[in-house]
Amino acid sequence: MIELYFSRVIETILSACSFEPEKEIESPDPTPPQHSLSPREVIIIGSGPAAYTAAIYAARANLHPLVYEGSLVENSLPGGQLMTTTRVENYPGFPEGIDGPALIENMRNQAIYSGATMLQETVLEADLGVRPFVIQGEKTHQTALSVIIATGAAANRLDIPGVDRLWQKGISTCAVCDGSLPFFRDRHLFVIGGGDSAMEEALYLSRFAKKVSIVHRRDKLRASQAMQKAVFANPKIEVIWNSVMTRINGERKVESVVIENLKTKEAATLDAAGVFFAVGHTPNTGFLKGQLALNGDGTIQTRPDSCETNIPYVYAAGDVRDSVYRQAITAAGYGCQAAREAGRALELIQHEVTQ
Ligand code: NAP
Repeated sequence: MIELYFSRVIETILSACSFEPEKEIESPDPTPPQHSLSPREVIIIGSGPAAYTAAIYAARANLHPLVYEGSLVENSLPGGQLMTTTRVENYPGFPEGIDGPALIENMRNQAIYSGATMLQETVLEADLGVRPFVIQGEKTHQTALSVIIATGAAANRLDIPGVDRLWQKGISTCAVCDGSLPFFRDRHLFVIGGGDSAMEEALYLSRFAKKVSIVHRRDKLRASQAMQKAVFANPKIEVIWNSVMTRINGERKVESVVIENLKTKEAATLDAAGVFFAVGHTPNTGFLKGQLALNGDGTIQTRPDSCETNIPYVYAAGDVRDSVYRQAITAAGYGCQAAREAGRALELIQHEVTQ
């Protein structure tokens, strides 16, 4: 089931992005010991731009980073949110843009070329109360002098009637993964949200759908002007303003939705074949089980002008600590900063030991 899901996701993403993966580059130490006795200098948890940039910098600083990239499970694809992004046009260095999965593949390969070791395994828990820190993966158990957390954020769902029953039966958080499925073709699809993700989902779905309705709770979109312009220029897309979806109906697949206008309080039932949520993200911190201080929005707290968390030698980079910019380029910047800070802190310990 999981393998089927993953191969479908990859197939769809690759066909959508015309991305031909290159032959996989071998990680220098693909099978690290199951139970390593000596602590790693740096363990990086995550697999998006923050994690791979941290890996590049840490490897080039001779810190022999081990990267827990995550395993392939339903609704979670190693590589982070760029794996479900079509064209990235604002990442410097690619004048004509680059497809999200291709950008991730490049970063991963660069990290491996630099000397990082990749482990396709999810971290189940981390003990940050002892030093060296203990990282427990699905199969391996490692210790580390410093840890960089770059686990990103996961797409939110709305808790309305019908969602649990019809999840993945016409309801999704990823148009690029699911949008081209036969039962969405030439049908009326709905996207919920008013940010860049919602615009991107709607634009992507308009390639296959008969009509796409964006349901937004306000009378103003949060998305960038460029995205709004593309949406308003697309004859297949409409925006249903000041409205929320209150119910999704259907027996074995999505058949209709109920939309309520928040101003007039009028509700309407509309035929629908699919609903795509684009209502923000929640930072992936569950495996930390409350060991690090978090901000009110769930991101990991860091010291001012630093990636260091409230626990010394533990750093946070990318969307797991940033709810403001949330861009691939800012995530990469934080990854660089975290690796540099970890390197400097480890150098200081080394210096003290040899004094
Ligand atoms: P976002 O900007 O936080 O937008 C989330 C949207 O969901 C908002 O419009 C919000 O409405 C709506 N929403 C949240 N909770 C809701 C609820 N319970 N019911 C109904 N609507 C709800 O998230 P995003 O669009 O995923 O973007 C995240 C970041 O990634 C942004 O910085 C964005 O610029 C970036 N991004 C960039 C690109 C690109 O450049 N190609 C693509 C995707 C994302 P309100 O507006 O009323 O709060």
